[in-house]
Amino acid sequence: MKVAVLGAGVIGVSTAHALSMLGHEVVVIDRQQSVAQETSFANGGQISATHTTPWAAPHVPFQAFKWMFQADAPLLIKPLRWDPALWRWGLRFLANCTSRHAASNFEKALRVANYSRGVLRAWRQREGLQYNQTTGGLLYVFRDHNALDAGFTTANKLGDYGLSQACLDRDALLAEEPALADAEVPLVGGVLSPEDETGDAHLFSETLAKIAQYKAVTFRFSTSIRAFITGNREITGIATDQGTIDADAYVVCLASETPRLLAPLGLDIPIYPAKGYSMTSPITSSDAAPQRSITDESKFVVITRLNDQLRAAGTAELAGWNRTLDPVRLSPIVAATRSLFPNAADYSRIEPWCGLRPATPDSVPIIGATPFDNLFLNTGHGTLGWTMACGSGQAVADLISGRTPDIDLEGLGLDRFSG
Ligand SMILES: Cc1cc2nc3c(=O)[nH]c(=O)nc-3n(C[C@H](O)[C@H](O)[C@H](O)COP(=O)(O)OP(=O)(O)OC[C@H]3O[C@@H](n4cnc5c(N)ncnc54)[C@H](O)[C@@H]3O)c2cc1C
Repeated sequence: MKVAVLGAGVIGVSTAHALSMLGHEVVVIDRQQSVAQETSFANGGQISATHTTPWAAPHVPFQAFKWMFQADAPLLIKPLRWDPALWRWGLRFLANCTSRHAASNFEKALRVANYSRGVLRAWRQREGLQYNQTTGGLLYVFRDHNALDAGFTTANKLGDYGLSQACLDRDALLAEEPALADAEVPLVGGVLSPEDETGDAHLFSETLAKIAQYKAVTFRFSTSIRAFITGNREITGIATDQGTIDADAYVVCLASETPRLLAPLGLDIPIYPAKGYSMTSPITSSDAAPQRSITDESKFVVITRLNDQLRAAGTAELAGWNRTLDPVRLSPIVAATRSLFPNAADYSRIEPWCGLRPATPDSVPIIGATPFDNLFLNTGHGTLGWTMACGSGQAVADLISGRTPDIDLEGLGLDRFSG
């Protein structure tokens, strides 16, 4: 079967690879000149099933309201903007802020993340993939005792779901990560999540794309998708600025652009961009830089070593499709990283970056079929697209091939929003 994969981010590339492994002819279409140039370019680098707690939770509306008046807040919503998409998304988000929804959404996201980690490991072994990965786990660090207590509670809860977690006092934390001894802020303890991993999503996508090209995958770059051509409840082609492209099946991996391109088909896709920022700096002292990826829970910042670079990422801003890099939003990330690892990197040589996370109101990706027989979705991975990429790609490839996926897709499809 010929399958068109729309979008060459980490989700599209993973989908194309999985499809090619099942023997399909695949064409990947992207407006950029190469793979992973948008949200998958410089993310936090964590492969982290322990980060699957959804944004929508009972305490969040109150917290988000307080943050609305703080320019450098970790989550900034600009609700006074006249943006019907934001209001519609926001109402759906609020509807998910109950304990019952939060628990159900957590289970769904965790299901995808756990499955995906297994698929990543299998692909890594089979293909010998190298993408500046580490497999020694992540460390959550806490700056005060209340936060640490909350962190231990979360760790115990994750333990109930089968994720191994180790609660650490300050001494144990420093033993796990000696570079934290340089921290200029008080640290009271941490949680080690040994199963989580890290790696460079951009490098991974490039590497996988090269392998895929040997297996009947063609990439059509610098090609903007403009519209879908339909006939009798199926897609017959896509119109691009480089002409029409047709295939037997189509997979949408277009992240935050998904709603705008699918709206003319009558499909209401609840994805809204949540802009995030990262900085990347050259490591100047290997011993002073962390060996494991760090999540600073009080500052909502993740810090990951990618070979000889230090990457730090965080913040979320719900303010439309604007990709402008605002230094005010980046500065808390730099400050948090510097306060934990003051001697690790050359902070005068920062590569700043921002990207649009494709956020759903329930923090669960949209994976599966549509009302069009040959149109499939693999999109809306929000904060965890790198974590979920391989598993999502494999599941959609199985679905298109008429195979039963190894993961239960119940509750992950677009139909969950139809009520
Ligand atoms: C600051 C930050 C930190 C993050 N940290 C982590 C982390 O530590 N771990 C983790 O798991 N996730 C993380 N994420 C989330 C993760 O990066 C995303 O979920 C993931 O990159 C989404 O991948 P994607 O392929 O869906 O999107 P993208 O990489 O954006 O790919 C979509 C592709 O579609 C193409 N496209 C769009 N419209 C068109 C069109 N009309 N025509 C042709 N092509 C088009 C784009 O060019 C793009 O290449 C982070 C995100 C951010 C912003």
